[in-house]
Parts: sequence; structure tokens; C-alpha cells
Amino acid sequence: MTAWFNETLYTGFRQSHEIKKVLFEGKSKYQKVKVFESGRFGRMLALDGVVQCTEGDEFVYHEMLTHLPMLAHGRVQSVLIIGGGDGGILEEVLKHKSVKRATMVEIDDVVIKVAKKYLPKICGKAFADRRTNLIVGDGAQWVAETDERYDLVIVDRPDPVGPATVLFSKAFYDNCRRVMKPGAILVAQNGVPHMQGPELTGAVKLFQKIWAHSGTYLAVVPTYVCGFMSLTWASDRDITDIDPRLVFRRFDKANLKGLNYYNPEIHFGAFALPNFVARLLPAPRSRAAKPKRRSA
Ligand code: SAM
Repeated sequence: MTAWFNETLYTGFRQSHEIKKVLFEGKSKYQKVKVFESGRFGRMLALDGVVQCTEGDEFVYHEMLTHLPMLAHGRVQSVLIIGGGDGGILEEVLKHKSVKRATMVEIDDVVIKVAKKYLPKICGKAFADRRTNLIVGDGAQWVAETDERYDLVIVDRPDPVGPATVLFSKAFYDNCRRVMKPGAILVAQNGVPHMQGPELTGAVKLFQKIWAHSGTYLAVVPTYVCGFMSLTWASDRDITDIDPRLVFRRFDKANLKGLNYYNPEIHFGAFALPNFVARLLPAPRSRAAKPKRRSA
């Protein structure tokens, strides 16, 4: 008898993954945690019944939430990751030799433990890297209290439920801005526009209240079902106003081995929004909503 994992994140719709073998199933202080061998996407992490990442397609989300802002910035030395307990973002961040220190604040140490034990194809050796500063705690509290400053803030949050609700608040993002150096970039995931449009609209409206420039870019993550995954960025400068030749040069210099999704062409293509997504966005506060057409 085949066992199935059913994700019912959206009303009226569910996705099912065959469970070939359960590797871990438990309840932490914050959420239900499950890791299993799936039928098509390798090992899968689910929190409170929602797919977080899979061996089969984590590269899309982790590469796009990391390398695009990294190469848009060009000189990232200090990074803050909020959430990201599976270690996938941390692993991508540490591929950049410019990074001197990566602070990761994850509220649930059970997620970290299962990632280290069952998801080495996602986190690699990132948790053991001497540049990693791993904090088990609330990301909202961290940005409210830390005296560290960052070139890049990556908010690898789940959907706005449970302990993550605070990661969708204005107070949290006001404090994120507080800990960002001049020219720093913040990126966050904002769900699947086809199913979570209001989440994207709300996030961009919020970012426009706090930063001079913000915008959205897209990636396609098969297990974040129903189309594009929206990723939003915010900064005191327009990260889309950049000579493509500079991104190509930075990409070559970074010597990022074994990427399966990100490349400089995708970097620029990701900012092109289909009409139904563009319509979800408030009028741009700055020129940042539309990438410049430049001769390459
Ligand atoms: N890529 C996934 C997505 O798009 O849904 C998110 C991955 S990651 C597993 C999300 C992490 O955020 C979880 O490990 C969860 O424990 C953590 N988290 C939730 N609320 C948090 C908070 N307030 N502070 C720090 N980490 C938090």
C-alpha cells in the first residue's frame, strides 16, 4: 500500500508526494518536523505539513535567493540569514570567498539537527564552516538587539504561520534595515503569486515604506506548486540598475562551481514579470520596478 504525504497549504488544492521511507517524524517546541524519502524529489523536509525543501529542487530557491543579491552587491563580506534551518542558503552563501562571516538565526534546533543528519546533500558542510555563526533563536529578536551590521540579509522564512508570523511584520523589517550597512541588500521569499498574491502585494507595500528601492524577481521551484515563486528585494539603491557586463565579470570571478539554476542571463531574466504578477505590485516608489534595457 503506497503511503502519501499530502500538502494542503492552499484551500481547494493539494499536492501529494509518495513516501518511500520516513527518516524522521517529530514535534519540536515550534512545529511538526518530518523528513522522508519521496517518490520523485529525493529527501524532503516538511514543517507543519508544508514542503520546505527537497533534494530534487532546492537548488533553484537557494541559488536564486543567494547568488542574485550577492552578485548585484559585489562585495558581500557579512551575511545574516534568518530561518534557513535546512542549511541550503548557508551552503550557497559560503561558496563566495568574499564572505568573512555568515550569521544564521534559526529558531528551531530540531530543524538544524535533522538537516545535519538527513539532508547533507542540501547543507553540505556549511554548519561546520569556520565562517558560520549559528544562533538558535528568534530572528525578530536578533535584528532588534544585535550590534552586528550586514551587507546582505536573507530572510529564508516559511509561510506566515506560528513562530514565522513575526517575520512578516513591519517592526521586523524596520530592524532589518537598522542592521544593514549602506548599500546592503535584503531578500525574502514571498510565496507563489498564483496562490498567495496578497502576500506578495503586502510585502512589497511594506518594503516601499522602509526602503527607497524594492522589487520582485521570480524563480520556478517545482515543489512550491502552482507556478512562479516570488522573491523580493529591498535596498537603499536600485539593484536592477547595473551594467550586465559587471554581473558577468563578478560571476566569472566568483567561480561558483556546480550551480544548476543561477547564471547571469537568469539574473536579468528573473526580473521580467508576467502581467498577472506585475498587477499584484503597487506602483513603484522608484525606477527599481523595471530593469534597465542596456546594451550588453
Ligand atoms: N524555503 C522555505 C520556504 O520557502 O518555505 C523555508 C525554509 S526554512 C526551513 C524556514 C525556517 O524558518 C524553519 O526552519 C523555521 O523553523 C524557521 N523560523 C520560523 N520562524 C522563525 C523565527 N521567528 N526566527 C528564526 N527562524 C524562524
